[in-house]
Amino acid sequence: MSHMAINRPKGTMDLLPGSIETWQRLESVMRELCDLYGYAEIRTPVFEHTELFLRGVGETSDIVEKEMYTFQDKGDRSITLRPEGTAPVVRAFVENRLYSAAQPTRLYYTGPMFRYSRPQAGRYRQFNQFGVEVFGSRDPLLDAETITLCMDFFDRLGLSNLQLHVNSVGCPVCRPRHKEALKTYLAPDFDALCPTCQGRYENNPLRIFDCKNPRCQEIVQDAPTITSCLCDDCRPHFAAVREGLDASGVAYIVNENLVRGLDYYTKTAFEIMVEDIGAQSSIGGGGRYDALVEEIGGPDVPGIGFAVGLERTILSMEAQGVTSANPEKPMVYIAHVSGKEKQAAYGLAIVLRKAGIRAQTDVMDRSLKAQFKYADKSGFTHVVTVGEEEVSSGMYTVKDMTQGSQQRWTREEMIRNLDGGTKHE
Ligand code: AMP
Repeated sequence: MSHMAINRPKGTMDLLPGSIETWQRLESVMRELCDLYGYAEIRTPVFEHTELFLRGVGETSDIVEKEMYTFQDKGDRSITLRPEGTAPVVRAFVENRLYSAAQPTRLYYTGPMFRYSRPQAGRYRQFNQFGVEVFGSRDPLLDAETITLCMDFFDRLGLSNLQLHVNSVGCPVCRPRHKEALKTYLAPDFDALCPTCQGRYENNPLRIFDCKNPRCQEIVQDAPTITSCLCDDCRPHFAAVREGLDASGVAYIVNENLVRGLDYYTKTAFEIMVEDIGAQSSIGGGGRYDALVEEIGGPDVPGIGFAVGLERTILSMEAQGVTSANPEKPMVYIAHVSGKEKQAAYGLAIVLRKAGIRAQTDVMDRSLKAQFKYADKSGFTHVVTVGEEEVSSGMYTVKDMTQGSQQRWTREEMIRNLDGGTKHE
């Protein structure tokens, strides 16, 4: 009796051969770029104490209110699968006292995040982010540097038509001023706000800018922005961030309505939008969080970072037709004429692999003709035929599958001609 098949949970993906190559390319671009900028990799656990996200992401954020994968473990602790990477990296920075080393600390990470949201194109329950976090400096040039790194990442992947939105969301000095100005402005329209925004009105009216409800958007459209209320520290800081971006040649749009969904941002906030992937148009974002390290129980150390959604990055690359793989290195199939040369073919594969050339042999007991057919279908660039004559003479027929031409080579010639990642002419 056969069993019923089991499918993957809703909102998750299998990354299969054929698409995994694009993921690997993203990872190698990310690692090269971070190395270039002097960022070191950090890996934190996939689950953390729930308390970390309550404090780190903010109890009134959508993530904490609606989207966390939280459960009691067998020791009755409340555990949460990480919905984002910043709070865990901050925790690790504090717990491992990375602040006692020479500052700043430049870190990057990549890995799966978990959010219980309604799955749709570009929105998953398990998705992957690439992010960076830098600790120990308030310098606006650092803000410009991280944003530039982020844009360089997209650039190296061949993506274009991205919109970088930047804003300053102020600090604990400007925020209360803005909050009062905003409440005064919104008061006459309070009854027209959606129930969620009515709830936000008292404690967190800034988040009303984030509301997707068209009526709320209309109401806040001309409301005083935080950017118009910046203090004498935040205003020049924001100007210097923009100057830094100008120096990098990074184009941006100042969007005073950009406040981002997470509660911890101070000063710089930014988001990268792309038009090609439908409703989920944000492919990355970040900002400065000068109070977060203290919030998580560490010293008074400022920080800044961003996170890029890799699924959305790949969707954008597909939409823009820039997913082309790296040029193919030779991949050699060594066919045996009859079962008798199977060992010799196997031995030749060992020699080629030792020389760094990709090689495979038959493990399906196929006829010569079937081996050729398989090699052709599977994308091998060369087929070496091993028969009795080849075994005794040490000269092998090598067929270039892309051009149809044939050569007679010794093992040494084969290694010399197939090496170095170039196909022979
Ligand atoms: P956030 O941490 O919410 O600022 O998200 C940063 C980036 O992660 C977004 O710009 C998206 O590219 C990506 N992202 C966030 N949530 C999801 C999700 N549910 N599915 C896929 N990508 C996501």
